[in-house]
Amino acid sequence: MFENLSQKLDKALKMLKGQGSITEINVAATIKEIRRALLDADVNFKVAKEITDEIKEQAIGSKILIAVSPREMFIKIVYDKLTELMGGQKQDINIKGDPAVVMIAGLNGAGKTTFSGKLANFLKSQGRQVLLAACDVYRPAAMEQLKVLGGQIGVEVYTEMESKDAVQIAQNAIQYAKANNKKIVIVDTAGRLAIDEVLMKEIAALKKALNPTETLFVVDAMTGQDAVNTALAFNERIDYDGVVLTKLDGDARGGAALSIRKTVNKPIKFISTGEKMEAIDHFYPDRMAQRILG
Ligand code: GDP
Repeated sequence: MFENLSQKLDKALKMLKGQGSITEINVAATIKEIRRALLDADVNFKVAKEITDEIKEQAIGSKILIAVSPREMFIKIVYDKLTELMGGQKQDINIKGDPAVVMIAGLNGAGKTTFSGKLANFLKSQGRQVLLAACDVYRPAAMEQLKVLGGQIGVEVYTEMESKDAVQIAQNAIQYAKANNKKIVIVDTAGRLAIDEVLMKEIAALKKALNPTETLFVVDAMTGQDAVNTALAFNERIDYDGVVLTKLDGDARGGAALSIRKTVNKPIKFISTGEKMEAIDHFYPDRMAQRILG
């Protein structure tokens, strides 16, 4: 297991003992340990450097209070910084509209279809009328998977199994929702194993045609550093509103959350923590800061 930040700092802070204030020289080892803790948590190298530079600036010159241990002081500075950088507060999705359209995008295997089901279940439990639209036209298995999930949670799934036109299916689903008093349409889209031009063009065209109320980019937290590149590429093409971080039930430390937020500057709105339909939660920056620091 990784040493957590607190353990790492214990070593580094020995050097600070007996010093009256934090200076460039005596803080270097501490900053190094903070950076190492961030890297261990899979925070992107460049992002970790930027953050530790900011922390250093903030810490230099501050008095080490005799009553408060310097370790606690540093941990608080780092924790507050990470929480702030990840947006401070939880952020909701926009589901105003008649119907509201929530588009779900991301690479294959990121957890889009599973998350679509979870979000439908989550909104249904708040008493909302939801329709799922199966628009992954390349994987009939994904459409079937969505149907099965819809059956489990008692949410209707709009499909056109013979059609290969995602835009048309989604538009028909929206018409169907209007005619059947559904207030939110969740559109599950196709992915690819890697970013490619065809996928990007298609997803951009779908977004343009649907003009969704909310577009969510789904990314697997276990993909660590790659998550940032994928997040950037999708943002360039579809300018999404929020990020969903999946598979946080695994041992990913969650550094991807910080890297994506700092690099793409889009809020993370939901996390997914398992395969069950209930394994969904809002993204709370303070909890993620805690997880990153260990
Ligand atoms: P899609 O290709 O993006 O639609 O991905 P899927 O929704 O089909 O998910 C891919 C695999 O990851 C499936 O086996 C899911 O059960 C699994 N999965 C999705 N979300 C999570 C999660 O939060 N935790 C875990 N452990 N598995 C997940």
